[in-house]
Amino acid sequence: MEDQDILKCLIIGSGPAGYTAAIYAARAGLNPVMYTGSKPGGQLTITTEVENYPGFPEGVQGPELIDLFRQQALRFETELHYENIVKVDFSGPVHKAWGESGQEIRAHTVIITTGADAKWLGLPSEERLMNRGVSACAVCDGFFFRTMEVGVVGGGDTAAEEATYLSKLCPTVHLIVRKDHLRASKIMQERVLANPKIQIHFNTETIEILGEHEVTGVRLKNTVDGDQYDVHLKGFFIAIGHKPNSGVFADWIDMEDTGYIKTKPGSAETNIKGVFAGGDVQDHNYRQAVTAAGSGCMAALEAERYLMNNNIF
Ligand code: NDP
Repeated sequence: MEDQDILKCLIIGSGPAGYTAAIYAARAGLNPVMYTGSKPGGQLTITTEVENYPGFPEGVQGPELIDLFRQQALRFETELHYENIVKVDFSGPVHKAWGESGQEIRAHTVIITTGADAKWLGLPSEERLMNRGVSACAVCDGFFFRTMEVGVVGGGDTAAEEATYLSKLCPTVHLIVRKDHLRASKIMQERVLANPKIQIHFNTETIEILGEHEVTGVRLKNTVDGDQYDVHLKGFFIAIGHKPNSGVFADWIDMEDTGYIKTKPGSAETNIKGVFAGGDVQDHNYRQAVTAAGSGCMAALEAERYLMNNNIF
C-alpha cells in the first residue's frame, strides 16, 4: 500500500459523534472516510421527539436530526461506507482496520464513535418472540400495535419516552418498573404519571413473555408480596438501558469494566496515539445527542492537531 493510500482520518460509527467528527475533519481538509456500522445513524434513528437539541425550538424527530447530520457531512465530501469494521490493529504508528468485505484500511488517525446498543432482559421467551411482539424500538414497531394493549419495561428516560409515544397509539400502556420509583428525569416522570393511558406497575419484574408464535401477554411478579399475575398485551418494548459497542477494540483500547472506552479527562484521546473516541461508546454519564456531538467535535480537532504535530499533511 502506497503512503498516499493511508487515510488521514478514519471514523468508525455514524451517530451524532461520528457525523460531527466528519463535519469538522472534512472542513479541516482531512478527507475523512466513515464506516457507518450495521445500524447507520445509531440510537437517534430509534428515538422519537428530541426536544433538547439546541436549534430546534419546536423539537425534531430523531431520524430527521440524524439525516440532517448526514447531509451536512456529505456536503463536505465525507466518504461513507455502509459497512461494519470487524477487526482493528493499533500496534503500529499507522492504524489498520478491516471491513466486513475483508478490505484492509490504513489510517493515521482513527475516531471511534460506535455508540451503545439496547440491553435485553435475557429471558428465553424474549429471544423467541423477538420481532414477534418483542421490540426495543417503539417508534419502529409501535405502529403495528396501534389500538392494542402494550407493555414497556424500564424506569429511565427511554422507558418513559417509549411509554409516552405508545400512549398516542394504544389504549393502555403497562409500564413495568422494578423499583418503587422511576429513574427518569423529572419532566418525563411528570408526563408519565399524568398520562391516564399509562398504567405503572412498580416493584414489578417480568418473569416471562407469553405466547407461542407471537406475544399474547406477560407474566409479572410483584417483588414486595411475591404475587404473580398475567397481563394480556400484544407488544412488549424493552427499554432498560444500553451497552457500548466497543468489543472490536478490546485488545487495544483501555476500557472500563462495563466496556465504555476510557478517554483522558477533558480530551478524546485514548491510550493509543492517534486513536480518539467520542459519543456514547466513551460516555456512560451524559449520553445525550448534544454531548455526543460535542465529543465528536473534540475528537476531530484532536486528530487534526495530532496530524499537524506529526507533520502528516
Ligand atoms: P437508564 O440506564 O437510565 O435506565 C434503565 C432503566 O431500566 C432503569 O430504570 C433500570 O432500573 C431499568 N432496568 C435495567 N435493567 C433492568 C432489568 N433487567 N429488568 C428491569 N428493569 C431494568 O437507561 P435509559 O436508556 O432510560 O437512559 C439512558 C440515558 O439516556 C440516560 O442518561 C437518559 O437520561 C438519557 N435519555 C435521554 C432522553 C431525552 O433526553 N430525550 C431519552 C432517552 C434517554 P433501576 O432504576 O432499578 O436501575
